[in-house]
Amino acid sequence: MYNSFRNTIIEWYVLNKRDLPWRKSGDPYKIWLSEIILQQTRVVQGTPYYYKFIEAFPTIFDLARANEEEVLRLWQGLGYYSRARNLHKCAKVVLENFEGVFPGEYVELTRLPGIGPYTAAALASIAFKIPKPVVDGNVQRVLSRYFGIHDDVSSPRTVKKMYELSENLIDQEQPDLYNQGIMEFGALHCTPKKPLCKKCPLISTCFAYENGKVEVLPVKLKKVKKKIRHFHYQVFKTDNEIALKRRIKGDIWQGLYDFHLLENNEKYEVTTILEKLNLDPARMTIKGDQWTIKHILTHQNIFAHFLQIEIDQEVKKVLESAGMRFFNYEKVRQLPKPILIDNYLHDEIF
Ligand code: SF4
Repeated sequence: MYNSFRNTIIEWYVLNKRDLPWRKSGDPYKIWLSEIILQQTRVVQGTPYYYKFIEAFPTIFDLARANEEEVLRLWQGLGYYSRARNLHKCAKVVLENFEGVFPGEYVELTRLPGIGPYTAAALASIAFKIPKPVVDGNVQRVLSRYFGIHDDVSSPRTVKKMYELSENLIDQEQPDLYNQGIMEFGALHCTPKKPLCKKCPLISTCFAYENGKVEVLPVKLKKVKKKIRHFHYQVFKTDNEIALKRRIKGDIWQGLYDFHLLENNEKYEVTTILEKLNLDPARMTIKGDQWTIKHILTHQNIFAHFLQIEIDQEVKKVLESAGMRFFNYEKVRQLPKPILIDNYLHDEIF
């Protein structure tokens, strides 16, 4: 059974795989880069970023020597910015400790920044042909349906069980084709909704199809409870400058730039914001209304409220002494920012 499953997956992959740029290369740097970009990101969204990175940093040496702001700026819009920071750190470690060559050993790979068991297995199998299985959401779905696994896929015990099963399934000679094959099969064929069962090469032995369980497998019990946050941004402007600050550790968007911020669980009225700012109202002019957008992240929904405030040089000094920095428009364009801030600037300022 394992043999026929494995062979069918590999045959299907060879015939149906998408023509993706990193698949043309055996270069561990390009494979690693694509794996990091594609974590929590769909291929259509991630591919342009892959091209941008390869163009800006054709080798790991170029990436390691870049500065962090450059890397974050290129990453802008992809979210999960810790991935970009770790990408940069990892390039530096590979350069310093391994002379710019990724170690061809699974455990060594897991020790690198930003490389967990999943990415290490993908890199080890695809770039170095080491038979280490990958278990992502696509793999879990295919295995749950095909083998009739009814355990909750969000539980670590099930992930372990799937991993053990995958160790028996992986092709020892062609782990690269098997791993990429099962992920691609889950992404394109055995999809979450409307899987292509009627055209499936596994149909005659698939548990879910045979037992009418395609719609109920995989089982996923844990629902993410989202946190609601209200970000009240004050966009302080002089004639030709905007106040920004770099976000610090311990929250989303670390290292990126955003505006002066007051945070609360609920929306503030403009009068409350002005009271809280404790700045001389005679030296400020509010431009337009408070402008709100909802920004959805995996674990939180952010309601961002923007208020544009023109200020004079006295207020600028007060804000600078409180840690805000003023940049001209050209510099503001170049700084790495959350996509929410970038969109606001394009719509309302530039
Ligand atoms: S028959 Fe349907 S559910 Fe079973 S593996 Fe194929 S696509 Fe998935």
